Amino acid sequence: MAISEETIGLARKLALKNAIDYGSAKEGAIISKVLARHPELKPYMGELSQAVKAVVSEINLMDRKVLESEYSRYAGEFESLEREKAEKSSRHRFGIEGAEKGKLVTRFPPEPSGYMHIGHAKPLFIEDELRRAYDGKLFLYFDDTNPDNEKQEFVDAFIEDLKWLGLSFDREYYASDNLEMLYGYALEAIKRKGAYVCTCGGEEIKKGRLSGIACRHKSQQVSENEGLWKKMLEGSFGDGEAILRWNGEMKAANTSMRDPTLFRIKHAVHYRQGEKYFVWPNYDFCTPVIDSVNGITDVIRSKEYEMRDELHLAILDLLGLRKPRITSISRLEIANNVTSKRKIRSMIADGLITGWDDPRLVTIRALRRRGITAQAIREFALSSGMGKSESTAEMESLLSMNRKLIDATAKRLFFIEDPMEMDVSNTGGVTVSMKLYPGSGNDYRNYTVKGELFINAMDGKVLHKGDTVRLKDAFDVEVYDVGKRVTAGYKGDNPGKLSRIQWITRDDAVKCELLIIGNLLKGEEFDRESIKRISGYAEGYSSGLRRGDIVQFEKLGYFRLDDKEKMAFISL
Ligand SMILES: [Zn+2]
Repeated sequence: MAISEETIGLARKLALKNAIDYGSAKEGAIISKVLARHPELKPYMGELSQAVKAVVSEINLMDRKVLESEYSRYAGEFESLEREKAEKSSRHRFGIEGAEKGKLVTRFPPEPSGYMHIGHAKPLFIEDELRRAYDGKLFLYFDDTNPDNEKQEFVDAFIEDLKWLGLSFDREYYASDNLEMLYGYALEAIKRKGAYVCTCGGEEIKKGRLSGIACRHKSQQVSENEGLWKKMLEGSFGDGEAILRWNGEMKAANTSMRDPTLFRIKHAVHYRQGEKYFVWPNYDFCTPVIDSVNGITDVIRSKEYEMRDELHLAILDLLGLRKPRITSISRLEIANNVTSKRKIRSMIADGLITGWDDPRLVTIRALRRRGITAQAIREFALSSGMGKSESTAEMESLLSMNRKLIDATAKRLFFIEDPMEMDVSNTGGVTVSMKLYPGSGNDYRNYTVKGELFINAMDGKVLHKGDTVRLKDAFDVEVYDVGKRVTAGYKGDNPGKLSRIQWITRDDAVKCELLIIGNLLKGEEFDRESIKRISGYAEGYSSGLRRGDIVQFEKLGYFRLDDKEKMAFISL
């Protein structure tokens, strides 16, 4: 299918706007915007991408003045679109039917078995919005009853990331500090005929749950269960030899109700409790009980847990504990990326990525390293509201929210990718002051132009003897000679009309490496081209940059200085 003229026209308008907003148009951004309006083009990605590529390269070669004049023809159209978008996003109200001011208590319940990622951010920020809206409370609850997986390192990392995201909590507590209390509730559940001890093998239990057939232990007397439970706690059973099960309905349509495990035996060193305990509650028992006793009124969680709501509420009913309101929301997933700990661990082990903060990942530390602000993560996480309809978000939309936030403070600098010498010795020293930021402001970088410059070979090769060209933001030069290098000399200062080329002074040029970050995955597979490297030279001002500084290299986009020693920048 050929891409229609109309679509190309749309891509052109979008590219113009993109270039006006960010200095240069980005192919990926334009493609996702076109697809948002024309999802029917998804099967024709190859053709679309080719068409957009052509449009983008044309736009990126345009002089700013021409760009602005063409853009102004469509400005009205874009303004009304922006207005529509703003109205739409302000429609997200964070509220819960029946919640009352001053009475809402909610919690963020991470398991410290990995690093925080973008998926955690959605419920977290919704909870924070609800706390604000209802003048309520937000607790931090570490769900840490899997001794094999959890580490203090992850607790510390969560706390650090949450602090960086600007979150504070009214209380912080740990599931594993409450085991004695949970054992008490377990005994109560046994006494009320809501739980029994089962010593069947794992396979047998699985089969029974699948086929809806009860095992012989289900009919044990309460006293028998009490005795066996006591033995479990005393250590008479080894790992996996006995479990405490919910006494539910083996034929229930909701399979979560078919006598699931409530407690299991596991001898291991727990990062917080040491070897003190070896009978561990499962999530299904632990979380509802701990929520209830801590006064949680509202639980916000992604909808894949919905099947378990019935069990959680039944446990609380049995124990006579107060039930929270549960609000299910859709999960936040990023296209062509992963949040699965197992998959990330194996990619690290295989040397495909460098660690949990690899800039291609969507862990909070990776996003932070990449230069995504906490504010952008918040806006992005909240942008889909509290609805339940699933959608996969594009990384590009987070990046674009971020660009709007960093634009005003990103220093504009020149970068020469493929250097060609331009000798301007005749000029004999002209001092130029160039703005560091667009718009108003008094911050400048200053150079004395004499001797040799670097310009892009692409610009240099099209020059001819006698041409007059403008060194961007500086002055005009006349070309005396073009060969392997260009010789030129000062030709006045007439901003506006001439074609303008980027330049840097050769003596203080800084060798740099730019890492262009793409999607981690292509389809289901790791994309071996997910990082592209560009070597080149940045202007002398760059030598004073510090790690973490964000710049915009003209025509290339935004970058964050990641490694000062290597002068390596990561694309934003
Ligand atoms: Zn059994």
